[in-house]
Amino acid sequence: MVTAKEPKQQVKIGPTRLLINNEWVESVSGRRFETINPATGEVICDVAQADAADVDKAVQAARAAFYGEWSKISATKRGDLLYKLADLIEQNIDELARLETLDNGKPLQDSLGDLGLVIACYRYYAGWADKVQGKTIPINGPYFCYTRHEPVGVVGQIIPWNFPLLMQAWKLAPALATGNTVVMKTAEQTPLSALRVGELIVEAGFPAGVVNLLSGYGPTAGAAIAHHMDIDKVAFTGSTEVGHLIMEAAAKTNLKRVTLELGGKSPNIVFADADFDEAIAGAHDALFFNQGQCCCAGSRLFVEEKCYDDFVARTVEQAKRRVVGDPFDANTQQGPQVDQEQFDRVMGYIESGMRDGAQMLCGGNRVGERGYFIAPTVFADVRDEMKIAQEEIFGPVMSIIKFKDIEEVIQRANTTMYGLAAAVWTKDITKAHAIANNVRAGTVWVNCYDVFDAAAPFGGFKQSGIGRELGEYGLQQYTEVKTVTIKL
Ligand code: NAD
Repeated sequence: MVTAKEPKQQVKIGPTRLLINNEWVESVSGRRFETINPATGEVICDVAQADAADVDKAVQAARAAFYGEWSKISATKRGDLLYKLADLIEQNIDELARLETLDNGKPLQDSLGDLGLVIACYRYYAGWADKVQGKTIPINGPYFCYTRHEPVGVVGQIIPWNFPLLMQAWKLAPALATGNTVVMKTAEQTPLSALRVGELIVEAGFPAGVVNLLSGYGPTAGAAIAHHMDIDKVAFTGSTEVGHLIMEAAAKTNLKRVTLELGGKSPNIVFADADFDEAIAGAHDALFFNQGQCCCAGSRLFVEEKCYDDFVARTVEQAKRRVVGDPFDANTQQGPQVDQEQFDRVMGYIESGMRDGAQMLCGGNRVGERGYFIAPTVFADVRDEMKIAQEEIFGPVMSIIKFKDIEEVIQRANTTMYGLAAAVWTKDITKAHAIANNVRAGTVWVNCYDVFDAAAPFGGFKQSGIGRELGEYGLQQYTEVKTVTIKL
């Protein structure tokens, strides 16, 4: 049962205007839009709505900062500023977690978990700031040749609503560590927590224009970033569909650099020799974590024929026990979907699974009378060609698929346009390596799932993306290599 109390009273709402040039401003048009509490469907507050004119203003501020004060600040000082920001986030962790839960709907415990990763990400890249260096190269002739790793310039960053603070950190931290300036557009569903971090960015002492934060919609503010002639790079996380549009916009305008972190339909493969308890708990979390709204969700759960019936029965029991309700309640494991549109999309996929003849063993229904809650849903006997086995559902809907042997499951796991993540559960090291080497995905987890660390790169093969975030690899996406050759 949903027992949404009125969490609004317990949550401090931060800024609701745009951050441009370290000033909080209304949008040029004066328009504002409402952000909704997904647990109740009620309006939390309204927020300034950026469009192309505001993107222009923010790009001008970012460009001036890039050539101005920011370019004169040492790499060590950039690191210090990022450390300071991490400290300020840590000091305000409870307030930020509550704001995230109010605007996004994720359980408070999960918001706190995200914030641990957020702080770690800023600290990790703070450490890198003065360790990004080029090479000296022994070219032929009387020359001295070396490379410099310079910032790309003004970076446009467009982030989604499923991990608002974490996606902000993944994008801002490497960009700032390497000396870029940023124009970031947050998702229209979840503008609030990123704006509160904006206050902390100013407090930390980042110079004006280095970080500009815009709330607004994709086809207006987002498209203006993707098309802007004075943005040097765009980094996007969201749907594969919009990823295509971003790339097209870059191609049609100034060939800005593009990195994309897009959707997935990740295979999670359970062999009969796996530790059964761990595999069941792991497969449950891999799918249901964050209301199923993870780009890397283990949404094609392949289970070996030999253990299939037992695995399905126990998985359904676990799904039935999942506690759905008020995200501010400490016992809650699953909150609402982020908005009405996502709720409708997920319910549409549940209907399609039933129409296609998959066997629905639990869930399938709305929970409560208000808000966007969906009961944990498990489909068994799913076949590869069904829509629920092919498209990203982004909700609490598990699809269990039977397989016979390892060659077959590798081939079927790879039959998808996506390649973000994969996992395998087995005690046999040969099988584990066979999956790790042959499944085409940017991340493969063995006997675990969703293990994230700021130091480990993340990103997609195929239509799951271009480029990598996090780790040392993530830095490469934010620098240009300059070759300098000097006659001796
Ligand atoms: P989306 O791709 O439309 O939105 C992500 C971000 O892109 C938001 O900030 C949005 O405002 C912006 N955007 C939208 N249209 C744009 C455009 N034309 N130009 C520039 N920016 C644009 O995703 P959504 O509509 O919120 O969700 C749809 C589906 O996308 C989900 O059901 C899910 O399958 C997928 N998704 C994936 C991720 C991920 O982490 N990979 C995140 C969110 C959504």
